[in-house]
Amino acid sequence: MAQLLSGKVAAAACKEKIKQEVADRLAAGKNRPHLAAILVGDDPASRAYVRGKVKDCEEVGFESTLIHLPATASEEEVLHEIQQLNANPSVSGYIVQLPIPKHIDDKRILLAIDPEKDVDGFHPDNVGRMALGLPTYLPATPFGVLLLLEHYEISTEGKHAVIVGRSHIVGSPMSILLGRNGKLGNATATLTHSKTPNLEEMTRQADILIAAVGKPLYIKPKHVKPGAIVIDVGINRLEEKLVGDVDFERVEPIASAITPVPGGVGLMTRVGLLMNTLRAADGRG
Ligand code: NDP
Repeated sequence: MAQLLSGKVAAAACKEKIKQEVADRLAAGKNRPHLAAILVGDDPASRAYVRGKVKDCEEVGFESTLIHLPATASEEEVLHEIQQLNANPSVSGYIVQLPIPKHIDDKRILLAIDPEKDVDGFHPDNVGRMALGLPTYLPATPFGVLLLLEHYEISTEGKHAVIVGRSHIVGSPMSILLGRNGKLGNATATLTHSKTPNLEEMTRQADILIAAVGKPLYIKPKHVKPGAIVIDVGINRLEEKLVGDVDFERVEPIASAITPVPGGVGLMTRVGLLMNTLRAADGRG
């Protein structure tokens, strides 16, 4: 039976440490970290994600601010809120919850965010810093995966990590982080996508297999080397249930360790955001 890599357990341990750091910084007369979120529209999943992030802030002792704009809000209105947050010294960092309505140019929004406050780590300035190994905010989901591996003392050094999916927010940064020379890196990272021929041949070479495909239950036993560590980033709704990109029931018996969905990477993504906000309270560096 595979070891269950529980996001619940790892997130609770990480949040306890963050809570202690907040208490220490307040005792030292420092500022309280403050996370703000802009939510545009009423997408139920986005609302739930933002609610979770606000709850996390309460738990660890951060201040939080939610700016909820209607789905009809104009690009200029969103940009106005961004300018306010950029100029507000009490806000350590903020996020614009994705997806945003189609009539708004998401690239323009992204570029308007002050990179010093971009705790999602999506601004090109921060993506470049990450790629160069400079101090920055790491994108929350890949950061969360690294924190999960760290919690379970899983070393990545010398391992072959195969990532399925190359999005800018998950797969691509995941491959950069795992492949770089540093803590929780030093893996040989292979990034695969929909144009990769013979995907199974690739994924079967993985010591660590990371699924960020966006297709429910896509990764089957035929994709997995016996004994592999399987990290499921996917969150999909299937017949009223949340499922991952990995067919957990069938893959679990052959893996050595595996994350559940829900209760896996999603909770660690939220920890990644908290860690970035804690950092932002002292400046990005
Ligand atoms: P995207 O849809 O942006 O990217 C999906 C990637 O998968 C693309 O690179 C695509 O390739 C690749 N892909 C699609 N089909 C195949 C295939 N048959 N074989 C190989 N590769 C394929 O998704 P995201 O990265 O944003 O999200 C991935 C999943 O993770 C989703 O389920 C999402 O809900 C979830 N998610 C979870 C988070 C969490 O906190 N746990 C956070 C963010 C996302 P190509 O580029 O060629 O099109």
